[in-house]
Amino acid sequence: MYTTLGISPEVVALSGSIEDQLKARFEEIDRNAEYNQLKVLHAMQKNRLQESHFAATTGYGYNDAGREALERIYADVFHTESALVRPQITCGTHALATALFAMVRPGDEILSPVGPVYDTLQEVIGIRDSIGSLKEWGVSYRECALLADGSIDYDAVRDAVRPNTRLIEIQRSKGYLTRPTFSPEEIGRLIRFIKEIKPDVICMVDNCYGEFVLREEPSDYGADMVVGSLIKNPGGGLAPVGGYICGTKECVDACAYRLSAPGLGQEVGANLGLLPNLMEGFFLAPTVTASALKTAVFAAKMYESLGFACFPESGADRFDIIQAVTLGSPEALKAFCTGIQAAAPVDSFVTPEPWAMPGYDDPVIMAAGAFVSGSSIELSADGPLRPPYNVYFQGGLTWFHGKFGIMRSVEELLRAGVVKQLPV
Ligand SMILES: *Cc1c(COP(=O)(O)O)cnc(C)c1O
Repeated sequence: MYTTLGISPEVVALSGSIEDQLKARFEEIDRNAEYNQLKVLHAMQKNRLQESHFAATTGYGYNDAGREALERIYADVFHTESALVRPQITCGTHALATALFAMVRPGDEILSPVGPVYDTLQEVIGIRDSIGSLKEWGVSYRECALLADGSIDYDAVRDAVRPNTRLIEIQRSKGYLTRPTFSPEEIGRLIRFIKEIKPDVICMVDNCYGEFVLREEPSDYGADMVVGSLIKNPGGGLAPVGGYICGTKECVDACAYRLSAPGLGQEVGANLGLLPNLMEGFFLAPTVTASALKTAVFAAKMYESLGFACFPESGADRFDIIQAVTLGSPEALKAFCTGIQAAAPVDSFVTPEPWAMPGYDDPVIMAAGAFVSGSSIELSADGPLRPPYNVYFQGGLTWFHGKFGIMRSVEELLRAGVVKQLPV
């Protein structure tokens, strides 16, 4: 079948030997997935998930038993008092913005102790001027740069906590930076440190791409709120839209009042028939995340064998599903993305081209052929066309598709003459 799909025997052989070297690593990933599968199953059984919960509601959505079951299941898996899980949350940025706006008031300050926040949050906060930003509402922002080795500068954090510091925004994943991703444990250390200085501060974690990578979530380590997108890990590839906020009852209530309206909160929000997808997606999320993780580790090992720098390195611990590879030239970046696109189940016949995306200084090239538009738990890759020509990629609903995508990308690099010879 690999030959049928355009993979040469040499790339098949190389992949086989790479895979052989990763057996122990894959077993570890599978053991975490097994644990998380049982965690989700337990939450579904405990909350007596039943067929009637899948019924569609429309209009106001009062007394939506299925929606309430979904939120209790999320709360149980994240070990939080409460959860807000809604298709009306349009994306990860919307979930994060909802949480930020819900918890701060004019005069308050938000602190990011782990360097810059995710690109789209810069406009939410008003670091880049934007209509309706928190800055317009009189909320200030401060950030502490990480130390040169990528670790948290605890001294700087201590100095940055002010009397009006209300909320700490901690981004777990590196996103499009080259800093390390933080483990829930490290995030927990940071939260304890900050709460000792100012106990009433709210610690919120941007958990995007981190869900189910390990057995614990940041909410197991003292986060007041964890926030993420359903078209990433927790949607399991089946959620067509949505976001979640899990946390203390006080925080989740405030977020619900912000999302709908003061006085309404969680009581409204029709499920529009999406609950089967949201429930089943959450059920599949641990194994889907494991597939994405295996794909990332495999890709790192493969590209290291071809002489490219990978971040994280293939042997490093992982706390999210993102893999970066330094490809070194525009040709290599385009070839990589062409390969990922050609491997997709949807839109495999198109060729990705760089384009000037709003909000970016350099042209960006993206590859994605997904069942859910823009879903990045499905195999996808992108990178800005600027040195050192890093490609960032993530996802893979199944390990076999992820593996094929990486093989296809290598084939493309060979075709483009970027890779001249495979290691023996
Ligand atoms: C994806 C992501 C977001 C939110 O992005 P959306 O595209 O709005 O879903 C926020 N933070 C991080 C770290 C992310 O990876």
